[in-house]
Amino acid sequence: MPKKWTIVAAILAAVLLPLAVMTVYTILTARDSMQREILRTAATDSQGVAIAVARDFEFKFSILKLVALRPLLQEAMRRRDRAAVTRHLLDLSAAVPDFERAFVTAPAGVLWADHPSIDPAVIGRSFAHRDWYRGVTASGRPYLSEAFERAARPVRRVYNFAAPVHDGRDKLVGYLVVQDTGEHLKKEIEKLSLPIASNIVVLDRNGRPAFELGDSVMPRLESIRDQHRCVDGALQGGEGTEFARHNGRDFVVVCTPVSGAGWAVVTHLSMDQVLAPLRSMAWQMGAAGMFLLLLTAGLATYWANTFADNRRLLTEGRRLNRELDILRNRYWALLDSSGDGLGLASRERIVLHLNRALGRMFDIPDPTALVGHPIGELRKYIFPVLVEPDKFRTEMDRAWADAEAAADFELALTDRRVIHFYSHPVRDERGEMIGRSLVCRDVTRDKEIDRMKSEFVATVSHELRTPLASLLGFSELMLTRKLGEEKQRQFLEVIHKEAARLNALVNDFLDLQRIESGRVSYAFQALEVGGVIREVATLFSSDPRHPLQLELPADLPPVAADRDRIKQVLQNLLSNAIKFSPAGGDVTIAARATANEVEIEVRDRGLGIPADAMPRLFGKFYRVDASDRREIGGTGLGLALCKEIVEAHHGRIWAESADRGSVFRFTLPVRSAAQPAVAASPPLPASAQKPLALIVEDDASFAALVREHLQEERLATHVEPTAEAALETIRTHPPALIILDVHLAGKLDGWDLLIAVKEDPRTASIPVIITTVTERRNRGLALGASDYLVKPFKMERLIEAVRRFFPAPAHTAVLVVDDDDAFRTAVAETLRLELRCDVREAGDGAEALSKIKAQTPELVILDLLMPVMDGFAVLDAIRAHPATANIPVLVVTGKTLAPEEKAHLTQGMARVLTKAEYSHQALAALVRELLGNSPQV
Ligand code: ADP
Repeated sequence: MPKKWTIVAAILAAVLLPLAVMTVYTILTARDSMQREILRTAATDSQGVAIAVARDFEFKFSILKLVALRPLLQEAMRRRDRAAVTRHLLDLSAAVPDFERAFVTAPAGVLWADHPSIDPAVIGRSFAHRDWYRGVTASGRPYLSEAFERAARPVRRVYNFAAPVHDGRDKLVGYLVVQDTGEHLKKEIEKLSLPIASNIVVLDRNGRPAFELGDSVMPRLESIRDQHRCVDGALQGGEGTEFARHNGRDFVVVCTPVSGAGWAVVTHLSMDQVLAPLRSMAWQMGAAGMFLLLLTAGLATYWANTFADNRRLLTEGRRLNRELDILRNRYWALLDSSGDGLGLASRERIVLHLNRALGRMFDIPDPTALVGHPIGELRKYIFPVLVEPDKFRTEMDRAWADAEAAADFELALTDRRVIHFYSHPVRDERGEMIGRSLVCRDVTRDKEIDRMKSEFVATVSHELRTPLASLLGFSELMLTRKLGEEKQRQFLEVIHKEAARLNALVNDFLDLQRIESGRVSYAFQALEVGGVIREVATLFSSDPRHPLQLELPADLPPVAADRDRIKQVLQNLLSNAIKFSPAGGDVTIAARATANEVEIEVRDRGLGIPADAMPRLFGKFYRVDASDRREIGGTGLGLALCKEIVEAHHGRIWAESADRGSVFRFTLPVRSAAQPAVAASPPLPASAQKPLALIVEDDASFAALVREHLQEERLATHVEPTAEAALETIRTHPPALIILDVHLAGKLDGWDLLIAVKEDPRTASIPVIITTVTERRNRGLALGASDYLVKPFKMERLIEAVRRFFPAPAHTAVLVVDDDDAFRTAVAETLRLELRCDVREAGDGAEALSKIKAQTPELVILDLLMPVMDGFAVLDAIRAHPATANIPVLVVTGKTLAPEEKAHLTQGMARVLTKAEYSHQALAALVRELLGNSPQV
């Protein structure tokens, strides 16, 4: 059963059950008391009737006695004077209306006179057998007979009063008898107008009915004595009551004795009649109960419905409240999560909400505490920090004055922040304005970025245009003038320098973009950072105004780093150090190991860095704006790039301004033991395919640097730090070349070793190149050294010297495929001049394939983005054909490769050189390597 109906049932039970109990109780009580009342009334009525009957009898006896005492009657009876007797009889009949007939009998009971004479046949008849006669003769006193049906006509029920008549001498002369119909008595009784008696029966002493009044309820009056036990009691003088049922009707029966007569009055009272009001009351109560039931049921249903509705509403209300709470919290959280200061004020200018950002922006300790307060209270926080509080006041007053107006302006704060403030009218769903929004956006950074961007555009355009102008200007000069060889070389150097500068700029910019977008993958390896530092230092060693000092301990642990990227960082820092030291001065590169890191420092004695520039120094496009450095070129990208790279290595980079000049430091994590060891000196290759170069050098970093370069020249390398060990190696594995430092760790020095090698006829032919800080070139050459390089020197010099002994394979067929004629020509020329290759060229993929078909090259140099058929398709075609499947392919591209493109190339076994990394040395080194590995070479 649904809950609602349970409630209805409960209400009905609660209301109706007590009501029903009360009603039943009331009815029963009423019935009880009414029954008692009826009994009392019936008894009273019955007594009244009995008294009336008794009185009537007494009266009739007294009349009879009076007449019987009349002397004249006595005399007349004695004399049997019928006429005279009849007159008395006449009197008697006249005296009592009930006396329908009177007569006299002789003492023996023979009737001899009557009045009215109703039947002449009775005269002379003896009535001695009659009850009245027996009664009166037995007692000798007046006697009331039993009721009987008289024989004379009209036949009716009568009873007789009989009295003896004596003469003057007290001699019985006969009996005087009156026959009573009781009709008048009945009328008298009726006059008592007993209201509720339904039937009254007067019984004679034998219990036989004398007469009856009211409804006849007893079909057989004669048996009334049998029917009611109380009748006997009443006939014996006791009153009695009982209940009876006749013909389906209930009665109260009261039996009352008629005193002095031995008769009884039996009163029947119909219970129906008595209980009728009770029944009607019960009906009424029933009807009222039903009405109440319906009413209560209706009300209960209504109430239950209302209750159920209320419960539903309550539950729904609670649910909505919870949802509202969640929504409100989300809404607050959303507003609070905004970096913009947000507020809402009512039309009456009362604060409805302020978010945390607004609080932070204007140093409001608890913005929620202002909710419910006038918006004006905000001013005490905002005004003190505004540069122009009046502007704010005027703008806001104007906005509040006009419901349609939006405020939109910028606020300058005393701490140099710029806040973009705007306020719009907020409307409800009917479009009525309910308040105003307040939005504060800190645009300080945007402004700064804008400024930096415009500065960047200016810088970049300047930086791009300057080298371009030089390139155009000098190349034009060379094209239009007849210049001497010296001049041409000079101009070409300028062109090359400017092109390199342009290249660096574009590379920096693209690099930064790529690094920032996460598209750069780092090739981490165990790196001897000292070697890298030396290598980079070599590149900058030619500037006599900025002598480079290296402070590198011998025992620097290897770091986990990407070689090329770390070189890039060092180059940036070194070029800055030189660039921002316009007056010249030492530039120092130092490195030291800490617990887990190697810290590298680049120190100069130049312009230094103002303290306020420090926080933004590593930001993109940031350049210190000071008069002393406006002329110095730059893009503001270098340090940003350094930061990105160093942080990708999990290192840190920072700057300090020294007394004079600047110090830049960065850290790189030391390679963990789990990482593969640095191959400082790989086991000597027993049967190396490549010629072996022995590096005799006790400075491990420098040895590593030299190794790097020699390996690029297709040489196998081996490092020995002492002359003793080197001599041993030379004996067991005679190298093809020796690179020799003079100052060595052991007892013997470089000179000793040189002499030993040159004196031994088995090793005397091995070329020895001396690399040392000692300026004793003549001695070296005299002792048989092939070349003598004084540290620091450019690595190209060493390579040049090496190549004299290991020239690249001449007349190797190389196919260069590129649609850019100028670049293709540059590549082809490099290969012809540097490697003396037999170079052929193709301008697109299709042409390349037909040339490969005509004559299989030993190497293909391939551009990727080309018309007709791109490089990927060419590579696939080369690999697909068995005759060309093993040709080494070097992809030289300006395209930034997507991971899947890289995968494509790796799968096609192609090496890649990006145009950003391109230089003729890099190209030549790679070509050498590829040809060295190639089975054709
Ligand atoms: P760029 O050198 O192209 O301007 P960087 O990002 O390398 O860009 O450097 C940003 C700025 O930092 C430079 O413009 C310069 O003002 C300052 N800076 C960098 N290195 C030095 C230094 N060694 N000495 C003084 N100022 C420097």
